[in-house]
Amino acid sequence: MAKGAKETPLMRQYRKIKERHEGALLLFRMGDFYETFEEDAKTVARVLGITLTKRSNGKAAEIPLAGFPHHSLDAHLPKLVAAGLRVAICEQVEDPKLARTIVKRDVVEVVTPGVILHDGMLDPRRSTYVVALRWGSSRTEKGRVGASFVDASTGEFRVVEVDEARVADLLLTIAPAEVLVDKKQRDRIRDLKAGSFVVTPQEDWAFGFDFAYETLLRHFKTHSLKGFGTDELRLGLCAAGAALHYVSETQKGKLPQVRRLQRYATADHMALDPQTKRNLELTGGIMGAQEGSLIAMLDATKTAMGARMLRRWLVRPLCRVDQIEQRLDAVDALASDNDLRRNLRDELASVADLERLSARLAAGRVGPRDVQQLRQTLEQIGPIKAMLSGHGCDSLRKAADGLSLCLDVVDRISASCADEAPAKLGDGGCIKEEFNDELDELRGLLRDGKGYIERLRNQEAERTGITSLKVGQNKVFGYYLEVTNAHKDKAPSDWTRKQTLVNAERYITPSLKEFEEKVLSAEERIGSLEQQLFETLCLALAEEAATFGRNASLLGLIDTFACLAEQAIRHNYVRPTVDDSCVLDIHEGRHPVVEHALPPGEPFIPNSVCLDPSGELEQGDAPQMLVITGPNMAGKSVVLRQTGLIVLLAQIGSFVPATSARIGVVDRIFTRVGAHDNLAAGESTFLVEMNETANILNNATERSLILLDEVGRGTSTFDGLSIAWALAEYLHETPHVAARTLFATHYHELNALAQRLPRIANARVQVQEHGGKVIFLRRLVPGGADHSFGIEVARMAGLPEAVVVRAREVMAHLENQRAEVPDEEAVSSGDGEARPQPVVAAQPSSQAAQVQAIPSGMQMTFFGAQPDPAMEAVRNALDGVDINSMTPVQALLKLAELKAMADE
Ligand code: ATP
Repeated sequence: MAKGAKETPLMRQYRKIKERHEGALLLFRMGDFYETFEEDAKTVARVLGITLTKRSNGKAAEIPLAGFPHHSLDAHLPKLVAAGLRVAICEQVEDPKLARTIVKRDVVEVVTPGVILHDGMLDPRRSTYVVALRWGSSRTEKGRVGASFVDASTGEFRVVEVDEARVADLLLTIAPAEVLVDKKQRDRIRDLKAGSFVVTPQEDWAFGFDFAYETLLRHFKTHSLKGFGTDELRLGLCAAGAALHYVSETQKGKLPQVRRLQRYATADHMALDPQTKRNLELTGGIMGAQEGSLIAMLDATKTAMGARMLRRWLVRPLCRVDQIEQRLDAVDALASDNDLRRNLRDELASVADLERLSARLAAGRVGPRDVQQLRQTLEQIGPIKAMLSGHGCDSLRKAADGLSLCLDVVDRISASCADEAPAKLGDGGCIKEEFNDELDELRGLLRDGKGYIERLRNQEAERTGITSLKVGQNKVFGYYLEVTNAHKDKAPSDWTRKQTLVNAERYITPSLKEFEEKVLSAEERIGSLEQQLFETLCLALAEEAATFGRNASLLGLIDTFACLAEQAIRHNYVRPTVDDSCVLDIHEGRHPVVEHALPPGEPFIPNSVCLDPSGELEQGDAPQMLVITGPNMAGKSVVLRQTGLIVLLAQIGSFVPATSARIGVVDRIFTRVGAHDNLAAGESTFLVEMNETANILNNATERSLILLDEVGRGTSTFDGLSIAWALAEYLHETPHVAARTLFATHYHELNALAQRLPRIANARVQVQEHGGKVIFLRRLVPGGADHSFGIEVARMAGLPEAVVVRAREVMAHLENQRAEVPDEEAVSSGDGEARPQPVVAAQPSSQAAQVQAIPSGMQMTFFGAQPDPAMEAVRNALDGVDINSMTPVQALLKLAELKAMADE
């Protein structure tokens, strides 16, 4: 591509700006269009599906071009950012009429996946974060990672340091849209399985400590960072500096909404690893969509702040009993006062997104309608505060006390801003009547322009006696008086003649000129006056942005409490007892999502689970680990998950779906569920399963909750059973990982563990067999199951009848074999007669014998080789039989014939 001197001046300007925004797609404003060139044009054409054309470029070669009208920016920008692009918006920054040569242009904003201030592009119910990560490289910092995240739409800015192994957890909890890393550390992020986000590499200097420190001091205008309590987080501050620098660059240095740097506390919160969040379907179903998730069911908040807070709580349950109790108290108070809760929620329903509104206000990006929304929201604070102040519940009262009424602000907006404010300032009519005399006069002038002219004409007609006097207007000299030749002598001396026509004269007068100037400039003046008054108002409001921000988070808190209380009442939840014990005692627990998802007429069957590893309960016989067996589809996974969810709900401060629950605070919930692979990372199904299991054994403590839904299914039965057995023994025998555990399995052999190890008990999900069919009772009862009814479930799923029939034959055969193998009973029957010595090795060999014992003919049929010719003959003969036309004797004869054929 030929560049430089041969190019047009416009392209040279374009290139200069483009160079300053490396890696960003440049939307280059030209008149009413945003244009893109070269590679950017190709990208835009592809992402937006618009036509790619060409533009001539002086003497240089033509260049690809794609553009769209400026008013479609709101429609196109979200698509570009959703495609993972960073978009630099370049505007004309001077009036084209005043430009002597080429219009001055500059980038006014860069929109990136993680830095968005455009209202229409933000999900009101989620935060939009950009995270910066800095891995430690010095001897003292090795193994540690500094992390910092910013939500530019709310001004939230946090910093933390974590162990390297916890970075993925952290990212999954924060769920950023964009991650910044030092170019040289880019590979590290590649290996993390931590959700989906765009990675934006940065120069290494952006992560330097001195640069970071300077950037932070300059932004906060402080002498040190001591006031933020983050001094010792050296790596964290490196990340914070990089994050702030990046966000501030996108906003061209304007970032007043970021008012403080806060530490992100991890110690007081339950750690949830990625697979647990996924398996418990907290914020998304297993398939990723929000449908079917806990948040989708639980979120009945009325405000965007509440919705975001609930989501944050859900992925970071608390671990401190006092903090949990404080939340529970508030939920309890609102659950037990229906009127208060309803009234509160009614008021909250009219509360706007004050958090983002105040951030945009601070950044000078609000329109008149936003200001009216601000007023309406502030007006809601009065009733909300009144409802809760003096309340007996500390958490509610404190929240109410913290709310500021901002009466001055409300008055100021009411006095100055029109009630029916336009969305944009330029649309006019944003300042109220009678707020500013000059504005009123100008508006009057516009409104009353015709009347004014009429009055002026009458006055002059009366003064001069020219009754036929006319007023007209043309482009050359504006408004004029027209006098026919018959009256032209009556024209007074203060009129100035401007034009002579065949039968009339045209004059201008000082008052006409004055009027004309006023009218012509009125609209322009109204626009600039409104802008000036509005900006003054916004500047005054921005001073209060910190107060609005505080109000916003308190309203979010109250909303979240009210939402949890509402759900408790709607769905009949109870307040859990939360303490520092290791007890987990849930009576008649329910799965909060499944109970609403069942088809009509299918009631949810509650189940109780009691675990008590340290024998604190009076009855003293609850185990540390429950091995849960039962047929496929019986409800084992549901019991496991509902237990995890009940613990989690309790620790976010929610009531729980049960008739009673005592929860000894859990430090981590671990889950190992089902089978999936991670082929992109070169991990097979079984390797994923073992990675997850290793993670549990390496990180669980005696305060954790472990939910194992099958272990060892991804390999051969013998390997799998051996691993499952050894795992259960390890969890039982190793004090520092002796966590409360639910272990669902189809290895009925594991039932034998209960006889060998004192803190393991068996439970099974009950079914009834009726007429060869299985009826699922969904009840968890003591004792192990010895049958999985897998073939029955396969039949229900619609497997071809031939496969089902054949599976039953193979099964019968295996069971016969099992009966013949004397040594096997001791470990696999689960009937309480287990052998005392370790059994893992004995069991697989007996099963191997069973499999080998299947007659080879049967195996061939099973795997689809040649069918049995005798049976084929019987089938063909049967096909030709018409039972309706046979006598009983004929039928008997036919039967004898068929038997003979089969015997051959
Ligand atoms: P598998 O061994 O095949 O994985 P499972 O025993 O884990 O089966 P679940 O997945 O827990 O079975 O349950 C199967 C279905 O049964 C659920 O999707 C749900 O529709 C229903 N179900 C489970 N538990 C209950 C219950 N307590 N009350 C009513 N329906 C239930």
